[in-house]
Amino acid sequence: MAAVSPAPFTSPLAESLAPGLLERFGRYVRVGTQSDRDGEGSPSSARQLDLGRVLVADLLALGLDDAVLDADGYAYATLPATISSADGPVPVIGLIAHMDTSPDAPGDGVEPIVHRAYDGGRIELPRGGTVLDPDEIAELRDHVGHDLVTSSGDTLLGADDKAGVAAILTAVAHLLAHPELPRPTLRLAFTPDEEIGRGAHRFDVEGFGALCAYTVDGSELGELQDETFSATEGIVTIEGHEVHPGFATGKLVNAARLAAEIVAALPDDLTPERTSGREGFIHVYEVQGSAAHAVIRTILRDFDDELLAAHGEVLRRTVAEVVAREPRARATVEITPQYPNMRSFVDLFPQVTDAAELAIRAEGLDPLRTSIRGGTDGSQLSAMGLPTPNLFTGGHEFHSVREWASVQEMAAAAATVVRLAEVWTTPEFRGATRA
Ligand SMILES: [Zn+2]
Repeated sequence: MAAVSPAPFTSPLAESLAPGLLERFGRYVRVGTQSDRDGEGSPSSARQLDLGRVLVADLLALGLDDAVLDADGYAYATLPATISSADGPVPVIGLIAHMDTSPDAPGDGVEPIVHRAYDGGRIELPRGGTVLDPDEIAELRDHVGHDLVTSSGDTLLGADDKAGVAAILTAVAHLLAHPELPRPTLRLAFTPDEEIGRGAHRFDVEGFGALCAYTVDGSELGELQDETFSATEGIVTIEGHEVHPGFATGKLVNAARLAAEIVAALPDDLTPERTSGREGFIHVYEVQGSAAHAVIRTILRDFDDELLAAHGEVLRRTVAEVVAREPRARATVEITPQYPNMRSFVDLFPQVTDAAELAIRAEGLDPLRTSIRGGTDGSQLSAMGLPTPNLFTGGHEFHSVREWASVQEMAAAAATVVRLAEVWTTPEFRGATRA
């Protein structure tokens, strides 16, 4: 096959940021940081602190003297403004990325591989028999010539969200090296446990003190997301009656079988694999059971709060109907809120998305306004009073051993952050206040 010519960067700035970004990204993904749904504390897994310490050391080395890893596993730091308060208000703008990786694919021992100038073919990774096939991952076709980063095949890559972490650190290093560039005060936060829906739980919004913030945790080039799912978790617990099977006639009540009946009775068109766009779903993500006791763990999602509540009623009704056939069994359904759709909160402060659009355009890109079939730290932070839409990172196929990222796009994300800082110093945004 003829050699493919390398894909261009989105700007000279992005090109200049790429080597430093790739170096940081490679170091951060090697630190295993999976969060743990069963972990009680914050962070949910101690390994996330390993990356927190690396980031604080990097931030201190850059000269951000207030960099700190707090008791809950959140790393914070401040990049002081270069504009003067004598010339008007100095906005405080937040930049946020999450340190944890998904518990849904192996995340320890990540060894990234850089595939220079991707040729458009199948990428066979050395471990786990993992193949990135453009016939299955259509997006790869749009990335011929890009420098792609993958795992070695037996772990996720961790671009979600270490591409965001690396983009922020790279942008900060660039801004520090260029004090002549106007910038507002930038507050940085690196959060634990985003992947298990707890990324904002111990976030110190007041201490952060920002007017608004951006998570750098999206995917596709130019993406700006200001709408997320509203989310709840539904836990179904079934108590059966265990009896030795040899003496079970007329006595045994098998909780595991009831759990299987419930899962089978849930509407099969209301699943993540059968819905798209703005449709919501009920996702059964774990079933554990014995004859005595079974637990079905589900997540419920919709952009519309009333429809989300209706999905909860479907779950409750299905459980009630199945268990009603076995009066000796007991079942409970516990539905707890996880995060709300950020849209209504972000809309109250339109400057936050306007500034992001300008920054994306300044990088030569068309802003891609999309809604996220998922949530971000920004969903909860927006509801907590910190409007926080989401910016792209250049990572793709998250939560999978096929996860990959484009160096050109990650560099574009870092460059967009640099430009965003400048946008917030322009007269149109500098004096913005929140209602
Ligand atoms: Zn993420």
